[in-house]
Amino acid sequence: MKYLGTYYYANIVQGVIENSFDYLSNLENMFSDSEILDYARPFTKKSNLHSFIEFIIDSLFWEESSKLSISRCRDRSNLDFDNPTYITPLEQVLSEYKMGIVSFMQWWKISATDQVLEDGLFEDYYNYLFSLSNYYKVVESLSEDVFYIIFLNRKLLQEFNELFSSYLQSCQDSEDAKEYIMDNGLQEVIRSDFKLHRVNIPMWVKRAVYFRDRGICVNCGRDLSGYLSLENVENFDHIVPLNLFGFNDVTNIQLLCRDCNSKKSGNRSEPITMYQSWYEK
Ligand SMILES: [Zn+2]
Repeated sequence: MKYLGTYYYANIVQGVIENSFDYLSNLENMFSDSEILDYARPFTKKSNLHSFIEFIIDSLFWEESSKLSISRCRDRSNLDFDNPTYITPLEQVLSEYKMGIVSFMQWWKISATDQVLEDGLFEDYYNYLFSLSNYYKVVESLSEDVFYIIFLNRKLLQEFNELFSSYLQSCQDSEDAKEYIMDNGLQEVIRSDFKLHRVNIPMWVKRAVYFRDRGICVNCGRDLSGYLSLENVENFDHIVPLNLFGFNDVTNIQLLCRDCNSKKSGNRSEPITMYQSWYEK
């Protein structure tokens, strides 16, 4: 966890989740055709949220490559061929994650013999960065850091999982989706009504959720540390129920006591936004 610009990117991902309607055309690329069904595989360590964050961050960098322009550079004096100090935003991220790259200014000196700086150069430079084998590793690392922050926010996790389940539900009447399930051997994961099968929750998921929720029922605050066994499946609740097209994903699980869990039983509930203080005042 590096915390380098992490909040900035977490904020963007939060914006996309909360205002997904505004980003639908972008998101179609992730959910086009039947690709949402690929996220139905239960409890992969690379969670659905990881994939989503990577997708957003990668799209953001690609978008940036066409938006950078000389006229918009805040400090144009940095774009001095003989005294180069200008650093592109992506370049900054890559160097923060210790990836060795040719800087934009070096790159400009190598590739532009007539010293003329044109907007297209930014795109060419970004294409060079995208082609580097470590580029996706940096996107992965940055996404892992963003995941760390968002995983603590159950309200956002609920909104994220509701977004995913709406796409899963929309596959219901699609013949293509049915074919996709057959072709990709997903019958054991997805039922014929397009809801997901209930599966055992792996120990690593239970541990992650137990420690995130600090051993208390997130709804009523009951301390479960005294008598909770991690084996006790009833306490691990799907935030968006399987019945409502929820996913078997670590981001869709929360800790509830037995009473709260049986009251909720398969229904949608409002996001639970109670968090325990780190220490008593
Ligand atoms: Zn409770």
